[in-house]
Amino acid sequence: MARGHEVTHYPWVLLGRQIGRLNPDSRHPLGIGQSCPGPASSLQIVRLIADAGGGGSDPSPRYSRTPDTPRTGRLVRVHRLTGFDMPALQSLIRTIPDHPKPGIQFRDITTLLRDPEGLRRSIDDISDRHRDQDIDLVVGIEARGFIFGTAIAYKLGVGFVPMRKPGKLPGETIGRDFDLEYGSDRIEMHVGAVTAGQRVLLVDDLIATGGTAEAAILLLKEVGAKVVESAFVVALPDLGGIERLEKVGSPVHWLCEFSGE
Ligand code: AMP
Repeated sequence: MARGHEVTHYPWVLLGRQIGRLNPDSRHPLGIGQSCPGPASSLQIVRLIADAGGGGSDPSPRYSRTPDTPRTGRLVRVHRLTGFDMPALQSLIRTIPDHPKPGIQFRDITTLLRDPEGLRRSIDDISDRHRDQDIDLVVGIEARGFIFGTAIAYKLGVGFVPMRKPGKLPGETIGRDFDLEYGSDRIEMHVGAVTAGQRVLLVDDLIATGGTAEAAILLLKEVGAKVVESAFVVALPDLGGIERLEKVGSPVHWLCEFSGE
């Protein structure tokens, strides 16, 4: 039977009134439509969960996520959505070639943000994953990490701390420099914004080389915080960022990935 906690393990399966809107004929990439009005009956919910791979006995669930398996043998876990979910989410992210400079495939999440279901499901999925991790604070990296991070903090019932580019924060700051392909950059946060022993979830829209997130993690460690996990909507795994964060001891979680760059 579909008990509540089973349902919540499959965050792309919707609950309550929203599940009544799941529409198999929908042209929406996430399978959502407006033409199935009204709340679903419990039988419909069981069927929808089974169809969506949420049934406990289905050996090959369409919507399943990878279990928390070790990736490298270290005490680090990597977790991401697989199968049906990833192309659906990918299709909501626009690619702009040669932005901001030639050769870069810019993964534009504004098209995901403007899609109500894509936005809600991205936030819900990341929040659901971290609900039982005793997170004290969400730290978001400027600027797109603020968008996802604030919503995730709200859902987790915790506060949000912005990690910003130099000179932006009004109060006293601490910061960390990091190298870019050409030159260097720096991120800063307010002194006292994160304190020793706090359990932090780090959030950004995308991980590429991992330089930005690594600097954020090292800064958080410097003040004695515990970075429970780093969460991203998009990963570009071929650029090595995931391994880079593993090396500084942060498990990584991402929702979808683009390879070959
Ligand atoms: P990195 O430090 O190399 O992991 O870069 C991560 C930061 O740069 C994130 O804040 C992203 O928003 C941004 N970024 C890097 N590469 C891309 C890309 N191909 N498309 C969109 N944003 C990117």
